[in-house]
Amino acid sequence: MKKILVPIMAMTMIATLGACGSKNTEAPEPESEMQKKVAQYAPFDLTTDMSILTDNEKDLIKIFLQISEVMDDLFWEQSFGTENRAKLDELTDPCMREFAEIQYGAWDRLDAENPFLPGYGAKPKGANFYPVDMTKEEFNALEDPEKTSQYTVLRRDEQGKLVVVPYHVAYATQLAKVDSLLGEAIAICQDEGLKKYLVARREAFRTDDYFASDMIWMDMKKSRLDFVVGPIENYEDALFGYKAAYEAFVLVKDEKWSNDLARFTKMLPELQKQLPCDPKYKKEVPGTDSDLNVYDVIYYAGDCNAGSKTIAINLPNDERVHLKKGTRRLQLKNAMNAKFQTIMLPIANLMICDDQIDNVKFDAFFSNVCYHEVAHGLGIKNTVTGQGPVRKALQNQYSAYEEAKADIAGLFIVQTLIEKGEITNITVEDAYVTFIAGILRSVRFGASEAHGVANMMCFNYFQDHGAFTRDANGKYVIDVEKTRAALEGWTAEVIAMEGNGDYDAAKAYAEKNGKVRQDLAADLKKIEEANIPVDIVYNQGADVLFK
Ligand SMILES: [Zn+2]
Repeated sequence: MKKILVPIMAMTMIATLGACGSKNTEAPEPESEMQKKVAQYAPFDLTTDMSILTDNEKDLIKIFLQISEVMDDLFWEQSFGTENRAKLDELTDPCMREFAEIQYGAWDRLDAENPFLPGYGAKPKGANFYPVDMTKEEFNALEDPEKTSQYTVLRRDEQGKLVVVPYHVAYATQLAKVDSLLGEAIAICQDEGLKKYLVARREAFRTDDYFASDMIWMDMKKSRLDFVVGPIENYEDALFGYKAAYEAFVLVKDEKWSNDLARFTKMLPELQKQLPCDPKYKKEVPGTDSDLNVYDVIYYAGDCNAGSKTIAINLPNDERVHLKKGTRRLQLKNAMNAKFQTIMLPIANLMICDDQIDNVKFDAFFSNVCYHEVAHGLGIKNTVTGQGPVRKALQNQYSAYEEAKADIAGLFIVQTLIEKGEITNITVEDAYVTFIAGILRSVRFGASEAHGVANMMCFNYFQDHGAFTRDANGKYVIDVEKTRAALEGWTAEVIAMEGNGDYDAAKAYAEKNGKVRQDLAADLKKIEEANIPVDIVYNQGADVLFK
């Protein structure tokens, strides 16, 4: 079925992107630069199984959506300015308008923030958090301890002097709406944990002190609904990295996946013993208290919806909370499915041989992603050579090896759980083929980051050990038995590298084996020429959810 489905889907996508904003299937292929830019983002309906939700939960969601819309407005104000946003109505090119909506402004977030709207120069580094004409010297000279707070903006008073304004004052009008909507949500909320959190969050919006509500959120483990909302990440402030940008995720927990992850995480000590590596590297006992859960997102607003879409959440950011309670990690299943369907499958369809394309499955992809997270707990944290923690011994090489460890040990966990009969919806071959297709997706834009180097070391090891070959059409044919052997060999290699803590050896190995080789570069060119989308744009909201 998939072989037929994929080309149809790809065609539909091209048809959709032919005419911005319209679903006209007769539209021509994209021609203008703006059409091409919009076409980089594949449309995807953001939904979940609404039938499992109670009427009360659905009523709460409707309120959360309204609050999220305010977060969206606030982010527009922070990133671009509400006045500039209003001017978008004057644009005559619907594609340009649509692209500005995706970017929340005039600058292309996937293209080094280059301006694409006429009349705009370089993006102000401080976005709209600071006056555009403010210099760093002027900021440094200002005597106000609140100027570096993540919940204040800088403005000019009537004399043109810099002043610091707290968010709850600067955004009072919008936040009054949030306050009243949260009041409505609190009044009807039936889940005790969620209610407690909403009460605390409402107070946080009033005072710009989020600590108490973050602490309560850490304890909110039973509620099926979740609502991540507020000023959270600091990336939009590229000037100093101080100011937090508003965003919201409305989330519905996937109980089945979450319970499985919790159950399998409990098996980590046993899995550690089975790791295919020298016994001297697996003497540590992995922790089993990881807080990793699976959710569907039903609404993205503000910062997290701008440009590239977040597929996992690790919050809160407040280090005082980390010390007391750690963090919660949320894997966003439908968001990953969006990327799988619109990006990964078209790549696999180009690169995986016809006999194995049906082994590329979302459940295998999602298992590999989730167990990568779990597998960070496996292996070794302290060197066996007396050099202290692996992180310190391997210095700037550590991240690449740690990611490589999590990738390969994650695949090992999936394989083991399938063979134990614990995971039943995929086969070992599905896991392997999807894993290799996943590497092609990850490195399509190069392999310079730590995880890219990790991907390349694994890919090259697999290739050198015959895990895959290319058929006459240049498509990958995965050898299951040789992949199993390569998996074991590479696991042993990476864990030994971590356990030995030999910085020079690790660096030399990564420099030699962590690069894209010529034959892969040719494959990546083929992928590039196929114009496969690079990210997602969501169709979302009440219309999509409550059809
Ligand atoms: Zn990782």
